[in-house]
Amino acid sequence: MLRRIPSVHRLLDTEPLRSVDLPAPLREAAVNRVLQDLRQRALAGDAIPPVAAIADEVVALAQGMLQPSLVRVINATGIALHTNLGRSPLAPSAVAAVVQAAQGYSNLELDLGTGRRGSRRSHFGVWLQRLTGAERSLVVNNNAAAVYLALRVMGAGQEAIVSRGELVEIGGSFRMPDIMKESGVRLVEVGSTNRTRIADYERAVGPDTGLLVKVHRSNFRMSGFVEETAVHELSDLGGRHGIPVLLDVGSGLLASVHPVFGSEPSVAALVRQGASVVTFSGDKLLGGPQAGIIVGQARWVEAMAAHPMARALRVDKMTIAALEATLRCHADPRRALEQVPVLRMLTATPASLRPRLGRLASRLRRACPGVALKIQADTTEAGGGSLPEHPIDTLVLAVAHDTPERLERSLRSARPPVLARIRHGSLLVDLRCVAVEEERELLTALIAALEEVSR
Ligand SMILES: *Cc1c(COP(=O)(O)O)cnc(C)c1O
Repeated sequence: MLRRIPSVHRLLDTEPLRSVDLPAPLREAAVNRVLQDLRQRALAGDAIPPVAAIADEVVALAQGMLQPSLVRVINATGIALHTNLGRSPLAPSAVAAVVQAAQGYSNLELDLGTGRRGSRRSHFGVWLQRLTGAERSLVVNNNAAAVYLALRVMGAGQEAIVSRGELVEIGGSFRMPDIMKESGVRLVEVGSTNRTRIADYERAVGPDTGLLVKVHRSNFRMSGFVEETAVHELSDLGGRHGIPVLLDVGSGLLASVHPVFGSEPSVAALVRQGASVVTFSGDKLLGGPQAGIIVGQARWVEAMAAHPMARALRVDKMTIAALEATLRCHADPRRALEQVPVLRMLTATPASLRPRLGRLASRLRRACPGVALKIQADTTEAGGGSLPEHPIDTLVLAVAHDTPERLERSLRSARPPVLARIRHGSLLVDLRCVAVEEERELLTALIAALEEVSR
């Protein structure tokens, strides 16, 4: 059997491998992989296919390697800030700004007035300060980096007091106690998991206290016998002892202008309540690029900007371009609900989704007459650890099926892949995060999936 495996030379000389245009290293890698696989199959007693079939296999493998790995997917989960799906899509103006920054040169670090070296902070600083009321701002790679840098600069070598109820883990790799340790801050836990009062912080303040920290409980909710300390109480306490207050608010709501945001305070409100520094993500409720945004008192933010780690954590021109354009969309909070895709998706009402779902359902029924469809009320969430206290009312198309998992899997292998939820034995399609232009692709994928599972 082994002897029937063609040589590399013979294989390379076989159509279509001979004439197909492939990068030579990829062609070699594919040939080696296919031959190795054949050897194993031969040793297991399998027959060796004809050489032309082997050449086809090599070409298919090499062409597969050339396909992009990061691809667009259709998000029919209804979760606007899905971390696994890249969190927030950008507004068209932000996309245009990224393309412009990427394609050519820019005044990234040039003051066009003087012709001298400028600061990359100038492009977002004025906007962040205007929108949050903070004295200064700085942007780093993501919010985890922002928290790290803030802790390092504000509390390294000192004690930081945190409520036991806020020692959160976000997304598996961001654990507040670990970040504190890495940043050289000594963690002092106060209160209990469900209740922490200002008196608990007050009792823990001592000569080594350098920082009061408050962390948003982003990805879970607590109800019942729960008490947390207000930001203004913490800043009063900090003020009396000369200790700064750091808030990691995670999502960073700029303006609380819609009921979907519930009682989530805006960053500006937290700054007004006296927080020394507030950090949040660029790609959660802000609806911009991945970034960690730091706003607060000049003294602290400037110290962070001057820290050597700031250079290691700094953002690139494309992020700055997207951020600046996104912040401009927030200039008018009401218009931002329309212009910023995640805000539009989060505030979409069940009534606004109904006509689109009706259209999808009737087309699907026409293509697959036996299918069991229902448009029904459901709830979704913002995702990305945002607004955990506020389930969002939505409307979905429920496709009842014996094996919804097979439907879900088939949709995931469509081109473009479609991501949907399964609940109570049905596949649920939510259109709030699906662009109107994607509806046809979604319909095609649903028809193909239903046909595949019925075979
Ligand atoms: C999301 C979140 C983070 C992590 O932010 P990234 O931008 O993903 O690094 C940190 N803290 C809180 C409270 C969060 O919600």
